[in-house]
Amino acid sequence: MATFRCASCRMDVSMHAPGTAHRNHCPSCLGSLHLDRRVPGDRDAGCGGRMEALGVTVRDDGEWLLIHECRRCGVLSANRIAGDDNALALLRLAMRPLSGSRLTI
Ligand SMILES: [Zn+2]
Ligand SMILES: [Zn+2]
Repeated sequence: MATFRCASCRMDVSMHAPGTAHRNHCPSCLGSLHLDRRVPGDRDAGCGGRMEALGVTVRDDGEWLLIHECRRCGVLSANRIAGDDNALALLRLAMRPLSGSRLTI
């Protein structure tokens, strides 16, 4: 099974995630890499910077989205959370209000 190594906490992460077709972040520290440009999985960004979880937001339909910011180019992206994401880390982010939300979903 395909795995990737988390650039932030060095955990080996399985690409298979419950609840989402493309795992794009680490379920432990919620870190990610700037690989996708528009569609999750397109691997088209050409940046490769480390993306840090900035916060979570809840869509109208109740789905949780994780907001990532690229430490290299500063881009923001919203990603669906996976079924086995670290609930404590998610809650910690949820408690932290997005500072001056530059993001429109
Ligand atoms: Zn990690
Ligand atoms: Zn980037």
